[in-house]
Amino acid sequence: MAGLINEEDLATVRERSRIEDVVASFVTLRRAGGGSLAGLCPFHDEKTPSFRVTPARGFWHCFGCGEGGDVISFVQKINNVGFAEAVEYLADRVGVQLRFSDAGGARVEPGLRMRVLEANRLAAEFYTGHLLSATGLPGRQFLDGRGFDKTAAEQFGIGFAPTGGRELGQHLKAQGFSDEELVRAGLVRENGWDFFQGRVLWPIRDAGRSVLGFGARRIFDDDRMPAKYLNTPETIIYKKSNVLYGLDLARGNIAKKNQAVIVEGYTDVMACHLAGVDTAVASCGTAFGDEHSRLLQRLLGTGDVSGGEVIFTFDGDAAGQAAALKVFKGDQNFSAQTYVAVEPSGLDPCDLRIQQGEAAVRELVGRRVPLYQFVMRNILAEHDLDRVDGRLAALRAAAPLVSSIRDKSLFERYIRELAKWLGDPDPNEVRREVNATMHRRPAEQRRQADRRPPEVADAALPGLPEPAPSLPVPDPRDRRLEAERGTLRLLVRAPEKFVDDWFGLVPGDFTHPTYRALFEVVQGVADGAGPWTQRMLAANPDPVLESLVISLAVEPVLREPTEAYAREYAAQLRVQTVSRQIAELKSKLQRTNPLADQTAYNRMFAQLVNLEKDRKDLVALATGPAL
Ligand SMILES: [Zn+2]
Repeated sequence: MAGLINEEDLATVRERSRIEDVVASFVTLRRAGGGSLAGLCPFHDEKTPSFRVTPARGFWHCFGCGEGGDVISFVQKINNVGFAEAVEYLADRVGVQLRFSDAGGARVEPGLRMRVLEANRLAAEFYTGHLLSATGLPGRQFLDGRGFDKTAAEQFGIGFAPTGGRELGQHLKAQGFSDEELVRAGLVRENGWDFFQGRVLWPIRDAGRSVLGFGARRIFDDDRMPAKYLNTPETIIYKKSNVLYGLDLARGNIAKKNQAVIVEGYTDVMACHLAGVDTAVASCGTAFGDEHSRLLQRLLGTGDVSGGEVIFTFDGDAAGQAAALKVFKGDQNFSAQTYVAVEPSGLDPCDLRIQQGEAAVRELVGRRVPLYQFVMRNILAEHDLDRVDGRLAALRAAAPLVSSIRDKSLFERYIRELAKWLGDPDPNEVRREVNATMHRRPAEQRRQADRRPPEVADAALPGLPEPAPSLPVPDPRDRRLEAERGTLRLLVRAPEKFVDDWFGLVPGDFTHPTYRALFEVVQGVADGAGPWTQRMLAANPDPVLESLVISLAVEPVLREPTEAYAREYAAQLRVQTVSRQIAELKSKLQRTNPLADQTAYNRMFAQLVNLEKDRKDLVALATGPAL
């Protein structure tokens, strides 16, 4: 560590760092009354903004997850760095040259982060200078062939890495950078050669316009590096799962238009912006992943289904369809606001602009369709819908996708649309197949499917375990889930009150996957030894379950947890399950012709009578706490 930060400098950094500006680089904030600003919390998943910033007091606080603090703690948390590094980050933003002192008061070198940022800034300048010089001719010819002139090159900060292989390193060492700093910045290799040689480069910046790294394209046939595209390796400032090319240019427009367009490459981002699609970004050297989607959602500023639009320009080909399916199966808040724009000619935005002009690029984005429609239609297209067996096979193939939707409002919409595309005027058959799919899947598989897919495998650091897939965070204020949460609240505090085999509760009584998972944990550790909470936490290391257990343990309970109180809650939950079964059976009865199948009809009718009786008994038990 470089020693203590000079007190005076620290005070200056605090003074000059406007918390609303710093937070706004990561979260779109809107005025929320009382002099505060609101946005979606970057530290927990949520649909409605409960994250507040109060500029006058210099504080931030989230009413959803309880996190809060000052501008330095915000930077620590969002960048996952220590205090000193957070101060360096802020000092860099507001232009304060930090002085460090050890115990004796002697000045030592500033921290690495700032040096790496500075090296990247100078490298970007060096590369743009070379693009315009005589050595940069091949780079300029490449850009010219893609329809980009000098103004465009300047606007996007494009550069050229000379072919000699040592020029950048020598240039930066002359400016006082050490070999180690340049290696850590990802600009020079361990063997002393420049990381990028003889390539066209795009600077990859954060929303605050600091250069974090570069993307580079091969232009010479004899390039020693085989990959067409090469990116800065992971450094302390460049994390490929967390950066989007074009974000510095698109950021303000994304918030203003409540829209983001995701394209494949650097030249596509340029073509889009030049054509007026100024919300375009691209992931760099990796597939678009969950981190990227979270980054964009925070900038869109709302998780509302009707709120923001994220438009992917996938290819219509198999790879594009697979990519769309991956997004669809990922974060559902995200997929609900996701659209797909497919260019029938198969041209990417860059080629489209060259061959058909800028209006064609705007039209491509204008032709977007909802992601689920794109995914469903691709599935249906594999079947012959003119034949009865073809339609049935198509329905079987599409039903699992619909059954994976958790949002009930979307669920109904998808069922109706699927029926329409199948040419079936009655959505009940689709609904039946979707329900059957859900029940066919064993509980464990269902739970797995409800989880987010793991991050792209190569995002894991060597030697560290892969990031665990996470359960969705239930909204504690969701009234429909109050009986589920209330029961778990008691189970977490006083499991011994749930006698008679949990009063008949089963995992299926919990409709939210995370609540269901916690109940399964409770059942699994019931016979173990040691403190109850520790047992629950040890049984499942999922961070969402962990924080749920802790919240439930501290949430207020209305009454002393007694056996009678526990029985009432369990009964409430069972009433809900039985009510769902009754509704299902009734709809089945309505679709059964009593004259055609007398036995089946009578059997279902008897079942219904029994269920109604069960419900009546349970309602009598559940009259305690208000629902
Ligand atoms: Zn939060």
